[in-house]
Order: sequence, then structure tokens, then C-alpha cells
Amino acid sequence: MAALILFGGGGDLAMRMLLPSLYFLDHDGLLPQGLKIIGAARSQETVEDYIAKVRQAVQPRAEADDAWDEASWARLAARLDYLAVDATDAESLRALKARSGEGDTVSFLAVSPSLYGRIVTAMKAAGLAEKNDRIVLEKPVGRDLESFLEIDDAVAHAFDERQVFRIDHYLGKETVQNLIALRFGNAIFEPLWNNLTIDHVQITVGETVGVGDRWPYYDEYGALRDMVQNHMLQLLCLVAMEPPSDLDPDSVRNEKVKVLRSLRPVTAEDAERVTVRGQYVEGAVEGRTVDSYETERGQPSDTETFVAIRADIDNWRWAGVPFFMRTGKRLPEKRTEIVIQFKPVPHSIFGHGERGAIYDNRLVIELQPDEDISLSVMNKKPGLEQRMQLQPIQMSLSWGQDGKDAAPPRRRIAYERLLLDALHGDSTLFVRRDEAEQAWKWIDEVADAWACRECRPLDYDAGTWGPEAADLLLSRTGRKWNAR
Ligand code: NAP
Repeated sequence: MAALILFGGGGDLAMRMLLPSLYFLDHDGLLPQGLKIIGAARSQETVEDYIAKVRQAVQPRAEADDAWDEASWARLAARLDYLAVDATDAESLRALKARSGEGDTVSFLAVSPSLYGRIVTAMKAAGLAEKNDRIVLEKPVGRDLESFLEIDDAVAHAFDERQVFRIDHYLGKETVQNLIALRFGNAIFEPLWNNLTIDHVQITVGETVGVGDRWPYYDEYGALRDMVQNHMLQLLCLVAMEPPSDLDPDSVRNEKVKVLRSLRPVTAEDAERVTVRGQYVEGAVEGRTVDSYETERGQPSDTETFVAIRADIDNWRWAGVPFFMRTGKRLPEKRTEIVIQFKPVPHSIFGHGERGAIYDNRLVIELQPDEDISLSVMNKKPGLEQRMQLQPIQMSLSWGQDGKDAAPPRRRIAYERLLLDALHGDSTLFVRRDEAEQAWKWIDEVADAWACRECRPLDYDAGTWGPEAADLLLSRTGRKWNAR
């Protein structure tokens, strides 16, 4: 690969995530020799100014991780280039093509998705979509199935599917890949991974931030499209998929598509029973009083900032096992986790009540704020009490917890893995067209059901876990959300 082109190379995503990731990769000697990195955006700036801007973005991040050194920076800086282009204009991109040199390119579109269609058309005309070139697309691709297909058809016109890398950065997280290792690298979990042993699954993505000045985007999308369509359904797929025959990109993605196809559609009749829409009103988050969504937005809005959904997967493995998903802004904690809740023991020999209480085993896969996998199991309380007493203990299954390893490895930015895979042409952790299509189909059904019932979002106080109805979604079935 000769050049990595960052369209939108001066934007927030590039400066906060992509360029620091590239610094870390280079620091660890993982970037291909001779790879050029070209920032491309409309702003007229010199290469020197661009490099200075990149340094400002990268250095504090690297220093915070104790990974800054001038030699690594000099190596990255030597790769950097910048060209002012209008990415929607083929003539402009011809100059970029010339600047990228002879070899193949990977183009990362860190620009508004509304430009994707026009950009890929211009890329094709400019020779940046040749058979060994690749393109990386950021979410959200589309706002519904129709707009997704419209954009993706334009992409398909310029690139073969094998050249297209649709990013879902959750898949770049170490713990998400560890979930695959845990399930398919151990004989002890898979036999239990079904409706005989598992009671239900919870997926929570909680954010403490509000929408702030992102509202022009957010108000059009809402929590369902912003979070559930991509990150949460991807996590659900990795938990629920059948074992693939190997780690080939298509083997893994075939299994994920089967899960998405098995999702039970949410009908208008079901909407109030299996979904909750919420929007935050004024409240306190982490001890600070914050405004309502509508105050931030500046006018009334029907957009949901919280969603909880019960998803059912209609296949043999998961029949009768609900997957509860919830996500929202202005919640009490920044927390992303998957909880696999096992069924209780069929009969307790320890009696009932506090002293002999048995807690059900649960496997918690935490992605944020920390990355960890832990299994809760019952254990005898040490001591000589006449009657045996039990206590739940947490077994951490994460790296280095066996006490043998020294410091854990640096926590990588999820984009590091994904950028490296795109450069190597490995699409296992990227979303295939039919996956995205199937996910949109299910999301459209939920949105249509809401529209049909005229479901307005329910208020919830900022700093709480959403409307009460989200608790009822579980408590109606005798379950409750995982609490710390
Ligand atoms: P941003 O800060 O607004 O940056 C957009 C960049 O695109 C700017 O560098 C802009 O620079 C450039 N640009 C706009 N029109 C252009 C054109 N015609 N030709 C070439 N460059 C053009 O946006 P962002 O937050 O980085 O987001 C970029 C993409 O990432 C979006 O798809 C977003 O949904 C996605 N994303 C962002 C984040 C995040 O954390 N920021 C997270 C997930 C996904 P000029 O004005 O100089 O052209």
C-alpha cells in the first residue's frame, strides 16, 4: 500500500482518533514501510502547518500514554502530506492521485456521509478506485434502508465489495475481539451458550454527555439510528452468532447476517411492549445541573435520546432468550457492557434467604470505561459456621489477571486495529453490505412502528437510567438491569 488518504484529514475524527492511532502504530513499528499519509480537505493550508496541527493533536495523547518520543514523531511527520481538495470534484482528485504516487491507495472518508455518493463518483473518475484501491467508510451510512442503499449503490458503482471497509469502531475494541476468543477458543462456554443455560442477555451503552452542539446531526438521527443500528446490533451479533468455521472475513460475517435475519420484527402492536423511547429533561449528571435536550436543541423535538428494546432472535439457540438493549445520553454513568445472565440452579441445597441465597451466574463483558471480562460464581464463605454460607465472587478473565504478567499492554484506540486491518486488506472486523442492509431493515421496522403509534419519547431526568418504562421492560418478566 503506497498511500493512506484521509479525506477530512483536519476534522475532529481525524485529529482525535485517526492520527493519534497512526502515531501509535508507527511508534510500534506496525505501519508499512514507505506508506505516505495524505490529509485532504478544502482548507488551504501548507504541509508544514498541517504537520504542526497534527503534532498538537497527537503529542498530548501520546504523552498521556507514556508513548511520546521525538524519533517516532519524526518518522510519522516524514510520512505526512497535505493537499487542499474538494473531494467531490474529480479534477481536484486527479491532483491528489498524482500526489499519492504510483502504488495502491486506501482512502478513509472522515467527512460527512452526505458527501459519500459524490466523493466516490469523483474518486472513480480520478483513478482512485482502481482494483487494488480500498475505501473506508465511517458511520452513519444513511439514515434508513433507502438512503443507505442510495449511498451504497454509488459506492458499489465505483468499488467492488471486497474493496469497501465499513467501520464500526466497536469491533476494533480489544474486549470485543476477546469475546470471540472466549467463545470459540474455550470448550467450557460454548456448550452453555444457548437457551438451556442462559436466561437473557443485556447490552448497555450509557453516556453521561448530552448532545451539545452535535444536535444538527443528532436531531435527525436519534439514539436508535445513532447507536442501535450499528454498535449495539454488532455486539448482539457477536454474542448470538453460531461458531464460524474459520476466521475468514466472510465466514464470520455470514454468521452475523444470519443473526440479523433472525431478529423478530417489531410491529406497531408490539412497539409499546418491547420498546421504550425517552428524551432527557433537566437534571443532574455527576453532580452538575444540566439542561434538557430541548433547551440544548433550542426548540421542541421528538427525537429520542434514550432507547430500550427487547430483541428476540427466532432460532433454535436463542428461542425464549430475550436480548435487552438500552442506550442513552445524560445517563448516570459512562458504561458499555454486555451481560450474559445465566439461569438459576434448578434446586438450591443451601436453603433460601440471605444466608443461603444463590445469585445467578453472570458473565459481564465491560467495554467502557474499563475493558474487562468477569464471571460471577458462588463460593463458600471461609469459616467454621455450622451452616454453610455462600458469597458471590468475581473472577476476572482479562489479560494479566493471573498475576504472572507485569503491566498490562497499553490500551489501544479501537481505530488502531481497524486502520491496520484496512491497510492489510483484512475485512473481518468490518461490516459487509448485506449486514448493514439487514440491520437497517430491522431498525426501519422499529422506527415505522413508532411512527404508526405516534410514540412520543417519554421524559427522563438527566442523570437517571432513562424512563421508568425501561425498568418495567425487564421487571415485567421478573428481571432487572445489571447494577454495579
Ligand atoms: P468534522 O470535524 O466536521 O470534519 C469534517 C472534515 O471534512 C473537515 O476536515 C472538512 O474540512 C472536511 N471536508 C468537508 N467537505 C469536504 C470536501 N468537499 N472535500 C474535502 N474535505 C471536506 O467531522 P468529524 O466529526 O470529523 O466526522 C467525520 C465523519 O466521521 C462523519 O462521517 C462522522 O459521522 C464520522 N464520525 C465522527 C466521529 C467523531 O468522533 N468525530 C465519531 C464517529 C463517526 P474542510 O472544511 O477544510 O474541507
